[in-house]
Amino acid sequence: MDYDVTVIGAGAIGCALAREVSQRYPSLKIAVIDGAGAPAAHQSGRNSGVAHSGFNPAPGTLKARLCVEGNRLIRDYCREKRVAFQDVGTVVAALTVVEEERLHGLLQRGRANGVPGVELRTLAQARELEPNLADGIRLVLHSPSGAIFDSRAYVMAMAEDAKAAGVTFRFNTRVVGADRLSAGWRLILDDGTLLDTTRVVNAAGVHVDEVARLFSWQGPYRIVPFRGRYWNVKGKDDIIRSMVYPTPDPHFPFLGVHVTRRIHGGVMLGPNAMLAFGREAYSFWKVQPKDVLGMVRARNFWQMMRRPDIIRLAAVEIERSLSPRKFAAEAARLVKGIGPEDVAPGPPAGIRAQLVDEHGELCEDFLLQVEGDVCHILNAVSPGLTSSMAFGRYLTEHLKERNFLSA
Ligand SMILES: Cc1cc2nc3c(=O)[nH]c(=O)nc-3n(C[C@H](O)[C@H](O)[C@H](O)COP(=O)(O)OP(=O)(O)OC[C@H]3O[C@@H](n4cnc5c(N)ncnc54)[C@H](O)[C@@H]3O)c2cc1C
Repeated sequence: MDYDVTVIGAGAIGCALAREVSQRYPSLKIAVIDGAGAPAAHQSGRNSGVAHSGFNPAPGTLKARLCVEGNRLIRDYCREKRVAFQDVGTVVAALTVVEEERLHGLLQRGRANGVPGVELRTLAQARELEPNLADGIRLVLHSPSGAIFDSRAYVMAMAEDAKAAGVTFRFNTRVVGADRLSAGWRLILDDGTLLDTTRVVNAAGVHVDEVARLFSWQGPYRIVPFRGRYWNVKGKDDIIRSMVYPTPDPHFPFLGVHVTRRIHGGVMLGPNAMLAFGREAYSFWKVQPKDVLGMVRARNFWQMMRRPDIIRLAAVEIERSLSPRKFAAEAARLVKGIGPEDVAPGPPAGIRAQLVDEHGELCEDFLLQVEGDVCHILNAVSPGLTSSMAFGRYLTEHLKERNFLSA
Protein backbone atom coordinates (compact mmCIF):
# COMPACT_ATOMS: atom_id res chain seq x y z
CA MET A 1 0.00 0.00 0.00
CA ASP A 2 1.23 3.49 -0.82
CA TYR A 3 -0.87 5.14 1.92
CA ASP A 4 -3.01 4.25 4.92
CA VAL A 5 -5.35 7.21 4.41
CA THR A 6 -5.77 9.35 1.29
CA VAL A 7 -7.72 12.59 1.50
CA ILE A 8 -9.16 13.90 -1.77
CA GLY A 9 -9.32 17.70 -1.57
CA ALA A 10 -6.96 20.26 -0.02
CA GLY A 11 -9.61 22.74 1.04
CA ALA A 12 -10.21 23.77 4.64
CA ILE A 13 -11.91 20.48 5.48
CA GLY A 14 -9.30 18.18 3.86
CA CYS A 15 -6.39 20.13 5.35
CA ALA A 16 -7.95 20.35 8.83
CA LEU A 17 -8.52 16.60 8.81
CA ALA A 18 -5.03 15.78 7.50
CA ARG A 19 -3.51 18.03 10.16
CA GLU A 20 -5.51 16.54 13.02
CA VAL A 21 -5.05 12.88 12.01
CA SER A 22 -1.33 13.25 11.24
CA GLN A 23 -0.67 14.87 14.62
CA ARG A 24 -2.68 12.29 16.54
CA TYR A 25 -1.61 9.22 14.55
CA PRO A 26 2.01 9.86 13.51
CA SER A 27 2.52 6.28 12.32
CA LEU A 28 -0.15 6.54 9.57
CA LYS A 29 1.00 7.24 6.01
CA ILE A 30 -1.31 9.99 4.78
CA ALA A 31 -1.66 11.68 1.39
CA VAL A 32 -3.73 14.67 0.30
CA ILE A 33 -4.49 14.95 -3.42
CA ASP A 34 -5.88 18.04 -5.11
CA GLY A 35 -6.59 18.90 -8.71
CA ALA A 36 -5.55 22.52 -8.13
CA GLY A 37 -2.02 23.85 -7.74
CA ALA A 38 -2.23 24.81 -4.05
CA PRO A 39 -4.46 24.46 -0.97
CA ALA A 40 -7.66 26.54 -0.80
CA ALA A 41 -7.99 27.05 -4.56
CA HIS A 42 -11.77 26.76 -4.55
CA GLN A 43 -14.40 27.46 -1.83
CA SER A 44 -11.81 27.74 0.94
CA GLY A 45 -10.00 30.57 -0.82
CA ARG A 46 -12.98 32.19 -2.54
CA ASN A 47 -15.27 33.24 0.28
CA SER A 48 -16.15 36.11 2.59
CA GLY A 49 -13.39 35.32 5.07
CA VAL A 50 -15.79 35.48 8.02
CA ALA A 51 -15.48 33.47 11.22
CA HIS A 52 -19.19 33.19 11.97
CA SER A 53 -20.26 33.21 15.59
CA GLY A 54 -22.89 30.49 15.30
CA PHE A 55 -26.30 32.10 15.94
CA ASN A 56 -27.72 31.02 12.55
CA PRO A 57 -27.64 27.20 12.66
CA ALA A 58 -30.52 25.41 14.39
CA PRO A 59 -29.63 24.26 17.92
CA GLY A 60 -28.67 20.60 18.15
CA THR A 61 -27.27 20.44 14.62
CA LEU A 62 -23.71 19.50 13.82
CA LYS A 63 -23.37 22.91 12.17
CA ALA A 64 -24.30 24.74 15.37
CA ARG A 65 -21.85 22.78 17.47
CA LEU A 66 -18.92 22.88 15.03
CA CYS A 67 -19.40 26.54 14.12
CA VAL A 68 -19.26 27.76 17.73
CA GLU A 69 -16.33 25.49 18.55
CA GLY A 70 -14.64 26.32 15.23
CA ASN A 71 -14.90 30.06 15.86
CA ARG A 72 -13.01 29.57 19.13
CA LEU A 73 -10.36 27.27 17.66
CA ILE A 74 -9.74 29.40 14.58
CA ARG A 75 -9.10 32.58 16.57
CA ASP A 76 -6.50 30.84 18.76
CA TYR A 77 -4.90 29.16 15.76
CA CYS A 78 -4.70 32.35 13.69
CA ARG A 79 -3.05 34.13 16.59
CA GLU A 80 -0.56 31.29 17.06
CA LYS A 81 0.29 31.18 13.35
CA ARG A 82 0.17 34.96 12.85
CA VAL A 83 -2.59 34.65 10.29
CA ALA A 84 -4.44 37.98 9.90
CA PHE A 85 -7.57 37.86 12.11
CA GLN A 86 -9.70 40.68 13.48
CA ASP A 87 -12.56 40.60 15.96
CA VAL A 88 -15.00 43.03 14.39
CA GLY A 89 -18.37 41.62 15.49
CA THR A 90 -21.47 40.85 13.44
CA VAL A 91 -24.49 43.10 13.09
CA VAL A 92 -27.79 41.73 11.69
CA ALA A 93 -30.43 44.31 10.79
CA ALA A 94 -34.20 43.82 10.76
CA LEU A 95 -36.09 46.08 8.36
CA THR A 96 -39.65 44.79 8.84
CA VAL A 97 -41.85 43.49 11.63
CA VAL A 98 -41.45 39.96 10.31
CA GLU A 99 -37.67 40.34 10.35
CA GLU A 100 -37.82 41.70 13.90
CA GLU A 101 -39.51 38.47 14.95
CA ARG A 102 -36.85 36.48 13.16
CA LEU A 103 -34.13 38.38 15.02
CA HIS A 104 -35.70 37.37 18.33
CA GLY A 105 -35.53 33.79 17.03
CA LEU A 106 -31.86 34.19 16.13
CA LEU A 107 -31.13 35.54 19.60
CA GLN A 108 -32.69 32.40 21.09
CA ARG A 109 -30.67 30.24 18.72
CA GLY A 110 -27.47 32.07 19.58
CA ARG A 111 -28.05 31.58 23.29
CA ALA A 112 -29.00 27.92 22.84
CA ASN A 113 -25.85 27.37 20.76
CA GLY A 114 -23.65 28.99 23.41
CA VAL A 115 -22.60 32.02 21.32
CA PRO A 116 -20.91 34.48 23.70
CA GLY A 117 -22.35 37.99 24.17
CA VAL A 118 -25.11 37.86 21.55
CA GLU A 119 -27.76 40.55 22.21
CA LEU A 120 -30.47 42.72 20.64
CA ARG A 121 -30.02 46.48 20.30
CA THR A 122 -32.21 49.36 19.19
CA LEU A 123 -30.98 51.31 16.18
CA ALA A 124 -29.71 54.10 18.45
CA GLN A 125 -27.77 51.61 20.60
CA ALA A 126 -26.43 49.82 17.55
CA ARG A 127 -25.18 53.09 16.07
CA GLU A 128 -22.76 53.31 19.00
CA LEU A 129 -21.05 50.38 17.26
CA GLU A 130 -21.89 51.19 13.64
CA PRO A 131 -22.66 54.91 13.18
CA ASN A 132 -23.70 54.52 9.53
CA LEU A 133 -26.50 52.02 10.00
CA ALA A 134 -29.39 53.00 7.71
CA ASP A 135 -32.44 54.88 9.00
CA GLY A 136 -35.04 52.21 8.15
CA ILE A 137 -33.57 49.61 10.52
CA ARG A 138 -36.02 48.58 13.27
CA LEU A 139 -33.90 46.27 15.40
CA VAL A 140 -30.35 44.90 15.43
CA LEU A 141 -28.75 41.72 16.64
CA HIS A 142 -25.12 42.10 17.67
CA SER A 143 -22.73 39.21 18.07
CA PRO A 144 -19.25 40.23 19.21
CA SER A 145 -17.52 36.95 18.31
CA GLY A 146 -18.03 37.41 14.54
CA ALA A 147 -14.60 38.01 13.01
CA ILE A 148 -12.75 38.38 9.72
CA PHE A 149 -9.58 36.55 8.76
CA ASP A 150 -7.34 35.53 5.86
CA SER A 151 -8.90 32.21 4.90
CA ARG A 152 -6.26 31.23 2.36
CA ALA A 153 -3.39 31.84 4.80
CA TYR A 154 -5.29 29.87 7.45
CA VAL A 155 -5.68 26.81 5.19
CA MET A 156 -2.05 27.10 4.08
CA ALA A 157 -0.95 27.07 7.72
CA MET A 158 -2.94 23.89 8.38
CA ALA A 159 -1.41 22.29 5.26
CA GLU A 160 2.09 23.26 6.49
CA ASP A 161 1.37 21.66 9.89
CA ALA A 162 0.20 18.49 8.16
CA LYS A 163 3.31 18.44 5.96
CA ALA A 164 5.51 18.89 9.02
CA ALA A 165 3.75 15.88 10.56
CA GLY A 166 4.64 13.76 7.50
CA VAL A 167 1.61 14.16 5.19
CA THR A 168 2.38 14.01 1.45
CA PHE A 169 0.58 16.60 -0.70
CA ARG A 170 0.11 16.02 -4.44
CA PHE A 171 -1.22 18.99 -6.39
CA ASN A 172 -2.30 19.49 -10.01
CA THR A 173 -3.66 15.97 -10.21
CA ARG A 174 -7.27 14.86 -10.01
CA VAL A 175 -8.68 11.54 -8.91
CA VAL A 176 -10.63 10.27 -11.92
CA GLY A 177 -11.24 6.61 -11.05
CA ALA A 178 -11.11 4.05 -8.24
CA ASP A 179 -10.78 0.26 -8.40
CA ARG A 180 -11.58 -1.99 -5.48
CA LEU A 181 -8.65 -4.01 -4.14
CA SER A 182 -8.98 -6.98 -1.79
CA ALA A 183 -8.21 -4.47 0.97
CA GLY A 184 -8.50 -0.81 0.08
CA TRP A 185 -8.58 1.05 -3.22
CA ARG A 186 -6.43 1.75 -6.26
CA LEU A 187 -6.94 5.42 -7.16
CA ILE A 188 -6.52 6.44 -10.78
CA LEU A 189 -5.14 9.95 -11.22
CA ASP A 190 -5.57 12.04 -14.35
CA ASP A 191 -1.82 11.99 -15.05
CA GLY A 192 -2.00 8.19 -15.31
CA THR A 193 -0.52 7.51 -11.85
CA LEU A 194 -2.02 4.68 -9.82
CA LEU A 195 -2.03 5.02 -6.06
CA ASP A 196 -2.99 2.27 -3.59
CA THR A 197 -4.56 3.29 -0.32
CA THR A 198 -6.22 1.46 2.54
CA ARG A 199 -8.82 4.17 3.22
CA VAL A 200 -10.15 7.26 1.52
CA VAL A 201 -11.69 10.50 2.74
CA ASN A 202 -13.56 12.35 0.02
CA ALA A 203 -13.46 16.08 0.82
CA ALA A 204 -13.81 17.20 -2.80
CA GLY A 205 -16.13 20.17 -2.15
CA VAL A 206 -18.24 20.99 -5.18
CA HIS A 207 -17.18 17.68 -6.82
CA VAL A 208 -17.92 15.52 -3.78
CA ASP A 209 -20.88 13.62 -5.27
CA GLU A 210 -19.02 12.92 -8.54
CA VAL A 211 -16.01 11.63 -6.62
CA ALA A 212 -18.29 9.58 -4.33
CA ARG A 213 -19.74 7.82 -7.37
CA LEU A 214 -16.23 6.65 -8.33
CA PHE A 215 -16.43 4.58 -5.13
CA SER A 216 -19.86 3.11 -6.05
CA TRP A 217 -21.71 5.48 -3.69
CA GLN A 218 -25.38 5.62 -4.56
CA GLY A 219 -26.70 8.23 -2.17
CA PRO A 220 -29.84 10.16 -3.08
CA TYR A 221 -28.03 13.52 -3.09
CA ARG A 222 -26.56 15.80 -5.68
CA ILE A 223 -24.43 18.92 -5.51
CA VAL A 224 -26.00 21.99 -7.11
CA PRO A 225 -23.47 24.81 -7.51
CA PHE A 226 -24.50 28.32 -6.39
CA ARG A 227 -22.12 31.12 -7.34
CA GLY A 228 -21.55 34.05 -5.00
CA ARG A 229 -20.06 37.22 -6.47
CA TYR A 230 -18.73 40.30 -4.72
CA TRP A 231 -18.45 44.03 -5.33
CA ASN A 232 -16.07 46.46 -3.65
CA VAL A 233 -17.15 49.76 -2.12
CA LYS A 234 -14.63 52.23 -3.58
CA GLY A 235 -12.88 54.80 -1.42
CA LYS A 236 -15.12 54.39 1.64
CA ASP A 237 -13.02 52.11 3.82
CA ASP A 238 -14.37 53.65 7.02
CA ILE A 239 -18.05 53.35 6.17
CA ILE A 240 -18.38 50.35 8.49
CA ARG A 241 -16.34 48.90 11.35
CA SER A 242 -17.75 45.38 11.36
CA MET A 243 -20.02 43.25 9.15
CA VAL A 244 -23.62 44.21 8.53
CA TYR A 245 -26.04 41.48 7.40
CA PRO A 246 -29.70 41.54 6.45
CA THR A 247 -31.98 39.24 8.45
CA PRO A 248 -31.65 35.85 6.74
CA ASP A 249 -34.59 34.34 4.88
CA PRO A 250 -35.32 31.03 6.64
CA HIS A 251 -36.27 29.41 3.30
CA PHE A 252 -32.65 29.41 2.15
CA PRO A 253 -29.33 28.47 3.70
CA PHE A 254 -27.75 31.67 2.29
CA LEU A 255 -27.19 34.73 4.46
CA GLY A 256 -28.11 37.45 1.97
CA VAL A 257 -25.99 40.24 0.50
CA HIS A 258 -24.03 41.83 3.33
CA VAL A 259 -21.51 44.61 3.83
CA THR A 260 -18.21 43.29 5.17
CA ARG A 261 -14.85 44.73 6.07
CA ARG A 262 -12.02 42.87 4.32
CA ILE A 263 -9.12 41.63 6.40
CA HIS A 264 -6.46 43.31 4.23
CA GLY A 265 -8.40 46.56 3.86
CA GLY A 266 -11.50 47.79 2.08
CA VAL A 267 -15.20 47.01 2.26
CA MET A 268 -17.08 44.55 0.06
CA LEU A 269 -20.68 43.69 -0.77
CA GLY A 270 -21.92 40.15 -1.36
CA PRO A 271 -22.06 37.33 -1.96
CA ASN A 272 -25.26 36.69 -3.87
CA ALA A 273 -26.39 33.11 -4.58
CA MET A 274 -26.85 32.50 -8.29
CA LEU A 275 -27.40 29.03 -9.73
CA ALA A 276 -24.16 28.36 -11.64
CA PHE A 277 -23.92 26.65 -15.03
CA GLY A 278 -20.94 24.59 -13.97
CA ARG A 279 -19.14 23.46 -10.85
CA GLU A 280 -16.27 25.83 -11.57
CA ALA A 281 -18.23 28.43 -13.56
CA TYR A 282 -16.86 31.46 -11.75
CA SER A 283 -18.38 34.03 -14.07
CA PHE A 284 -21.98 34.65 -15.14
CA TRP A 285 -21.32 33.78 -18.78
CA LYS A 286 -19.29 30.64 -18.18
CA VAL A 287 -21.12 27.42 -19.04
CA GLN A 288 -19.63 23.97 -18.44
CA PRO A 289 -21.74 21.72 -20.70
CA LYS A 290 -20.90 18.42 -18.94
CA ASP A 291 -21.97 19.84 -15.56
CA VAL A 292 -25.14 21.40 -16.96
CA LEU A 293 -26.08 18.12 -18.62
CA GLY A 294 -25.45 16.22 -15.38
CA MET A 295 -27.54 18.75 -13.46
CA VAL A 296 -30.57 18.72 -15.77
CA ARG A 297 -30.56 14.91 -15.88
CA ALA A 298 -30.87 14.73 -12.09
CA ARG A 299 -34.26 14.40 -10.44
CA ASN A 300 -32.98 16.41 -7.46
CA PHE A 301 -32.49 19.44 -9.68
CA TRP A 302 -36.02 19.37 -11.12
CA GLN A 303 -37.52 18.75 -7.71
CA MET A 304 -35.67 21.85 -6.50
CA MET A 305 -36.73 23.92 -9.50
CA ARG A 306 -40.42 23.11 -8.82
CA ARG A 307 -40.24 25.25 -5.70
CA PRO A 308 -41.70 28.73 -6.27
CA ASP A 309 -39.26 30.27 -3.77
CA ILE A 310 -36.31 28.90 -5.76
CA ILE A 311 -37.72 30.34 -8.99
CA ARG A 312 -38.16 33.69 -7.23
CA LEU A 313 -34.60 33.51 -5.91
CA ALA A 314 -33.28 32.65 -9.39
CA ALA A 315 -35.04 35.67 -10.93
CA VAL A 316 -33.70 38.07 -8.27
CA GLU A 317 -30.23 36.61 -8.55
CA ILE A 318 -29.98 37.03 -12.32
CA GLU A 319 -30.66 40.73 -11.83
CA ARG A 320 -28.26 40.94 -8.88
CA SER A 321 -25.49 39.13 -10.79
CA LEU A 322 -25.60 41.57 -13.66
CA SER A 323 -26.40 44.79 -11.87
CA PRO A 324 -24.09 46.52 -9.41
CA ARG A 325 -26.94 49.02 -8.92
CA LYS A 326 -29.05 46.28 -7.38
CA PHE A 327 -26.23 45.30 -5.02
CA ALA A 328 -25.71 48.93 -4.05
CA ALA A 329 -29.43 49.45 -3.46
CA GLU A 330 -29.59 46.43 -1.15
CA ALA A 331 -26.49 47.51 0.72
CA ALA A 332 -27.92 51.03 1.15
CA ARG A 333 -30.87 49.55 3.04
CA LEU A 334 -28.32 48.43 5.65
CA VAL A 335 -25.62 51.12 5.58
CA LYS A 336 -26.01 54.82 4.75
CA GLY A 337 -23.85 56.39 2.07
CA ILE A 338 -23.46 53.54 -0.42
CA GLY A 339 -24.57 54.56 -3.92
CA PRO A 340 -24.27 52.88 -7.33
CA GLU A 341 -21.29 55.10 -8.16
CA ASP A 342 -19.37 53.61 -5.20
CA VAL A 343 -19.47 50.03 -6.43
CA ALA A 344 -16.69 48.32 -8.44
CA PRO A 345 -15.95 44.65 -9.22
CA GLY A 346 -14.79 42.88 -6.08
CA PRO A 347 -12.74 39.84 -5.08
CA PRO A 348 -13.08 36.54 -7.01
CA ALA A 349 -16.46 34.83 -6.93
CA GLY A 350 -16.86 31.53 -5.13
CA ILE A 351 -19.09 28.53 -5.80
CA ARG A 352 -21.01 26.96 -2.96
CA ALA A 353 -21.17 23.16 -2.96
CA GLN A 354 -24.83 22.97 -1.98
CA LEU A 355 -26.14 19.44 -1.41
CA VAL A 356 -29.72 18.86 -2.59
CA ASP A 357 -31.74 15.80 -1.56
CA GLU A 358 -34.09 13.73 -3.72
CA HIS A 359 -37.05 15.96 -2.75
CA GLY A 360 -35.26 19.06 -3.99
CA GLU A 361 -34.54 20.35 -0.46
CA LEU A 362 -31.30 22.25 0.09
CA CYS A 363 -29.55 20.31 2.87
CA GLU A 364 -28.86 22.60 5.81
CA ASP A 365 -26.70 20.58 8.14
CA PHE A 366 -23.21 19.23 7.57
CA LEU A 367 -23.44 15.68 6.34
CA LEU A 368 -20.87 12.93 6.19
CA GLN A 369 -21.21 9.27 5.38
CA VAL A 370 -18.81 6.43 6.11
CA GLU A 371 -19.17 3.39 3.84
CA GLY A 372 -16.62 0.80 5.00
CA ASP A 373 -13.21 2.18 4.09
CA VAL A 374 -14.44 5.39 2.41
CA CYS A 375 -15.76 8.52 4.10
CA HIS A 376 -17.60 11.17 2.07
CA ILE A 377 -17.95 14.72 3.41
CA LEU A 378 -21.18 15.36 1.54
CA ASN A 379 -22.29 18.75 2.80
CA ALA A 380 -19.73 21.19 4.13
CA VAL A 381 -21.44 24.44 3.18
CA SER A 382 -21.09 27.74 5.00
CA PRO A 383 -19.97 28.10 7.76
CA GLY A 384 -17.73 25.21 6.70
CA LEU A 385 -14.67 27.42 6.78
CA THR A 386 -15.34 28.66 10.33
CA SER A 387 -16.12 25.10 11.40
CA SER A 388 -13.18 23.41 9.65
CA MET A 389 -10.82 22.88 12.60
CA ALA A 390 -13.66 21.64 14.78
CA PHE A 391 -14.79 19.49 11.83
CA GLY A 392 -11.29 18.00 11.63
CA ARG A 393 -11.42 17.06 15.31
CA TYR A 394 -14.98 15.75 15.14
CA LEU A 395 -14.24 13.68 12.04
CA THR A 396 -11.10 12.19 13.58
CA GLU A 397 -13.13 11.00 16.59
CA HIS A 398 -15.91 9.73 14.32
CA LEU A 399 -13.43 7.78 12.17
CA LYS A 400 -11.57 6.47 15.21
CA GLU A 401 -14.80 4.96 16.55
CA ARG A 402 -15.23 3.19 13.21
CA ASN A 403 -11.68 1.72 13.29
CA PHE A 404 -10.88 3.83 10.25
CA LEU A 405 -7.63 5.11 11.64
CA SER A 406 -5.81 1.91 12.58
CA ALA A 407 -2.53 1.30 10.72
C1 LIG B 1 -19.05 32.69 -1.89
C2 LIG B 1 -18.80 31.92 -0.62
C3 LIG B 1 -18.65 32.59 0.59
C4 LIG B 1 -18.42 31.87 1.76
N1 LIG B 1 -18.16 32.55 2.91
C5 LIG B 1 -17.88 31.86 4.04
C6 LIG B 1 -17.51 32.54 5.22
O1 LIG B 1 -17.35 33.75 5.25
N2 LIG B 1 -17.31 31.80 6.35
C7 LIG B 1 -17.44 30.45 6.36
O2 LIG B 1 -17.30 29.84 7.42
N3 LIG B 1 -17.76 29.76 5.24
C8 LIG B 1 -17.94 30.44 4.07
N4 LIG B 1 -18.21 29.77 2.92
C9 LIG B 1 -18.22 28.30 2.95
C10 LIG B 1 -16.81 27.72 2.97
O3 LIG B 1 -16.02 28.37 2.00
C11 LIG B 1 -16.88 26.22 2.69
O4 LIG B 1 -17.79 25.64 3.60
C12 LIG B 1 -15.52 25.54 2.89
O5 LIG B 1 -14.51 26.27 2.25
C13 LIG B 1 -15.60 24.13 2.33
O6 LIG B 1 -14.30 23.59 2.33
P1 LIG B 1 -14.01 22.23 1.56
O7 LIG B 1 -12.64 21.82 1.95
O8 LIG B 1 -15.13 21.27 1.82
O9 LIG B 1 -14.15 22.57 0.01
P2 LIG B 1 -13.12 23.27 -1.03
O10 LIG B 1 -12.39 24.40 -0.41
O11 LIG B 1 -13.91 23.58 -2.25
O12 LIG B 1 -12.08 22.13 -1.34
C14 LIG B 1 -12.35 21.00 -2.14
C15 LIG B 1 -11.07 20.66 -2.90
O13 LIG B 1 -11.26 19.41 -3.57
C16 LIG B 1 -10.51 19.45 -4.77
N5 LIG B 1 -11.05 18.43 -5.68
C17 LIG B 1 -12.30 18.34 -6.16
N6 LIG B 1 -12.44 17.25 -6.94
C18 LIG B 1 -11.23 16.64 -6.95
C19 LIG B 1 -10.73 15.46 -7.58
N7 LIG B 1 -11.48 14.67 -8.35
N8 LIG B 1 -9.43 15.14 -7.38
C20 LIG B 1 -8.62 15.91 -6.60
N9 LIG B 1 -9.05 17.03 -5.98
C21 LIG B 1 -10.33 17.39 -6.15
C22 LIG B 1 -10.69 20.87 -5.27
O14 LIG B 1 -9.64 21.25 -6.16
C23 LIG B 1 -10.73 21.67 -3.98
O15 LIG B 1 -9.47 22.25 -3.68
C24 LIG B 1 -18.39 30.45 1.73
C25 LIG B 1 -18.52 29.78 0.50
C26 LIG B 1 -18.68 30.50 -0.67
C27 LIG B 1 -18.71 29.77 -1.98
